[in-house]
Amino acid sequence: MQNEDYDIETLAVRAGITRSQFGEHSEALYLTSSFVFNNAAEAQARFKGEQPGNIYARFTNPTVTMFEQRLAALEGAERCVATASGMAAILATVMGLLKAGDHIIASRSIFGSTVQLFSNIIGRFGVETTYVSPTDISEWQAALRPNTKLFFVESPSNPLTEVSDIRALSALAKQSGVVLAVDNCFCSPALQQPLKLGADIVVHSATKYLDGQGRVLGGAVLGSHQLLEGVYGFLRTAGPTMSAFNAWVFLKGLETLKLRMDAHSASALALATWLEAHPNVARVYYPGLASHPQHELAMRQQRTGGGIVAFEVKGGQPAAWQVIDATKMISITANLGDAKTTITHPTTTTHSRMTPEQRANAGINDGLLRVAVGLESLRDIQNDLARGLDAL
Ligand SMILES: *Cc1c(COP(=O)(O)O)cnc(C)c1O
Repeated sequence: MQNEDYDIETLAVRAGITRSQFGEHSEALYLTSSFVFNNAAEAQARFKGEQPGNIYARFTNPTVTMFEQRLAALEGAERCVATASGMAAILATVMGLLKAGDHIIASRSIFGSTVQLFSNIIGRFGVETTYVSPTDISEWQAALRPNTKLFFVESPSNPLTEVSDIRALSALAKQSGVVLAVDNCFCSPALQQPLKLGADIVVHSATKYLDGQGRVLGGAVLGSHQLLEGVYGFLRTAGPTMSAFNAWVFLKGLETLKLRMDAHSASALALATWLEAHPNVARVYYPGLASHPQHELAMRQQRTGGGIVAFEVKGGQPAAWQVIDATKMISITANLGDAKTTITHPTTTTHSRMTPEQRANAGINDGLLRVAVGLESLRDIQNDLARGLDAL
């Protein structure tokens, strides 16, 4: 099938399928670690790369390849390399593209483990990272050094849903000979396609919306054949590979991605609007609201505001905890991108490793709550939050 001819809903269901001799309709799950050759010469040709085909599942497996091709079609990428987790995707990007002495400029508002990876692990191998504002491009410009090789950004950010101007960052990156990588976890390709906005690399935690039902871990790196060659080389040798079983789960998850993202987004917008009018809520952070500082930019580069809503309750941590503990249905967990709605208090969970001063700089105050809106009825989600909010 020619991917260019089809819409995203169709690609999510049909792109990347390779059928075996049995003509199975649903994607097959190949649980095999290695592949056999017809003769010694064929084995040699495969290992030399002269003949296409599978060798060993650390680097290729037909089920994983189907997932890679489907996600590549959705993101409009030449190539995709699937990984064991979202963190493995970010690690593979850095290991594939950078060397000791290189410099990264990253948004200050990125996933906590990404900060740990850049500062405490990659930093030990001679790659330094400077953190800048996700929304002020002049800080990126000012942080540029002759050895800057990578811009890394997440948009919208977690938990405050700040939106970065991907086109503007791409223009600065191109002019400076830097690769721009975007973590597209919050939007998924159903809502935002960073490569079409000028990004060079997209990374995913497939664990979140691509699965969509909180079952398995996985990740992916997408981009041009040229940029992905080193990423693939790292994966082939070092082995943070996606399992075939997980790839099969993600293939099934992708089939409903667009439908789920539209439903998450519609409920999130309605919930954000309701929260904004609640007397015990001080502030709501949701890119789909007109009150969001980058609302217009968000509506230009995303199809919707997404499924994550953050809000500050009046009364700080005790009030925030009271709202959490009054819920009867919503799951108290830090995961997101699940059919089940989740609630978390960033100050004491996902962002607890930051100092109070770092949190204050990032705008994360003690009354902040983050809700990843699931697929339950909006009325039930709202009632579950109203119980605690009304009692404050
Ligand atoms: C969860 C997450 C990751 C890491 O993904 P894992 O699959 O948990 O390794 C990276 N970036 C963002 C934005 C995330 O939410």
